[in-house]
Amino acid sequence: MGSKIPQLHVFFFPFMAHGHMIPIVDMAKLFATRGVKASVITTPANAPYVSKSVERANELGIELDVKTIKFPSVEAGLPDGCENLDAITNEVNKELIVKFLGATTKLQEPLEQLLRDHKPDCLVADIFFPWATDAAAKFGIPRLVFHGTSFFSLCASNCLRLYEPHKKVSSDSEPFVMPHFPGEIKLTRNQLPDFVKQDMGDNDLSRLLKATNESESRSYGVAVNSFYELEPAYADHYRKALGRRAWHIGPVSLCNRNFEDKALRGKQASIDELECLKWLNSKQPNSVVYICFGSLANFTSAQLMEIATGLEASGRNFIWVVRKNKNDGGEGGKEDWLPEGFEKRMEGKGLIIRGWAPQVLILDHEAVGGFVTHCGWNSTIEAVAAGVPLVTWPVSAEQFYNEKMVNEVLKIGVGVGIQKWCRIVGDFVKREKIEKAVNEIMVGDRAEEMRSRAKALGKMAKRAVENGGSSYSDLSALIEELRLSRHQSS
Ligand code: UDP
Repeated sequence: MGSKIPQLHVFFFPFMAHGHMIPIVDMAKLFATRGVKASVITTPANAPYVSKSVERANELGIELDVKTIKFPSVEAGLPDGCENLDAITNEVNKELIVKFLGATTKLQEPLEQLLRDHKPDCLVADIFFPWATDAAAKFGIPRLVFHGTSFFSLCASNCLRLYEPHKKVSSDSEPFVMPHFPGEIKLTRNQLPDFVKQDMGDNDLSRLLKATNESESRSYGVAVNSFYELEPAYADHYRKALGRRAWHIGPVSLCNRNFEDKALRGKQASIDELECLKWLNSKQPNSVVYICFGSLANFTSAQLMEIATGLEASGRNFIWVVRKNKNDGGEGGKEDWLPEGFEKRMEGKGLIIRGWAPQVLILDHEAVGGFVTHCGWNSTIEAVAAGVPLVTWPVSAEQFYNEKMVNEVLKIGVGVGIQKWCRIVGDFVKREKIEKAVNEIMVGDRAEEMRSRAKALGKMAKRAVENGGSSYSDLSALIEELRLSRHQSS
């Protein structure tokens, strides 16, 4: 660096699920491009998902590394090598998910050993690791929380926890207005996660959730993958009304600037990236709809069949990423979810990716004019950054809050009509609704209005991460504060 000031060293520790690992690795890259030494902490089976991005960054002279700690799968009653949430969600097994969360609590000791050995100046750790605040405190360093969601959702979760409006309606389908919340936002109990709407009593999961709230309020602050101009009312509300210290530093995915960065991000794609690009290059601007439901949600054969039929009826070009529920038929490699002769008929018009897609590479292509999404926050903000309108198909987690923001606050999407929160396997939607929603975001005056709003937001997103932009400046302020805090404690 040539500077006399010792380099700041920050640890980044994501929860072991792709929707958490991918943005935290991007965030680590962002810090590293600003002269910070960044280390991503993960477990051996997850390291390959990170290492290609890290090697690529190193080739560009960015100081980023990976450090691994053992994941106690077998000790926790999980299959050997089961170190990522996507290894168990196919089985929709709540017990295994609880065991998985239990195993993560055993990571405190090995993490502390790494903190002892390497003496970083700050720990950015996932919200699912509430004990990380105490681990950081032992070594006198600040702990920042990473939630992986928007200010809107953070405010919504807090609102529901503080005021419990869902307990004041008489049925699961009766809408209630979110109290003390910017904008007139309505939700129903059906759209809330189980752990919000049900009294869970005293168990491992309820204790974990309580601990996450408590550890967040004792932490140094929160790093948010969003940008101020996207949701100013909610960014202000979170900071001022709820009193949280937060830095908006996104969209973090925009640190992936070229083909290689995008192609090497996250898991190995199930399609040759160049082939995918070639296919997209052969299509007109805004003529392709991209369909993908993130890294965890999956559907039954019957629902996949309905999607295929709806897509064909829409008449649009498409790229469809399929993650099938392993428990639902299709034995012996038989693809019982595809209509007879579908792929032959769709040749040149539709591309099916079985497994993992290079999502940002696809979304950023000018041929892509719409995205059918489960509204995971990463997918949502990646679409915003790419300026693409959305069909919203929320499944679980905080995805119904993200849907509200997309359709009612940003007005860049239309809902496919999902009413009910499910843990992993989505609520059933009929082909006619899929066809209608796809066409609503792809063609016609309303589609053009949504597209132009989405494109304007995409421009704002890019400006936010450029030198002098709101996210760039907030990251500068955070890094400066961490430098000062180190100085004061040394
Ligand atoms: N993703 C991808 N290819 C896929 C599926 C997902 O690159 O085939 C990436 C996507 O770009 C995003 C993340 O995985 O960064 C998924 O995060 P999100 O919050 O959207 O959903 P989750 O997987 O957490 O439900």
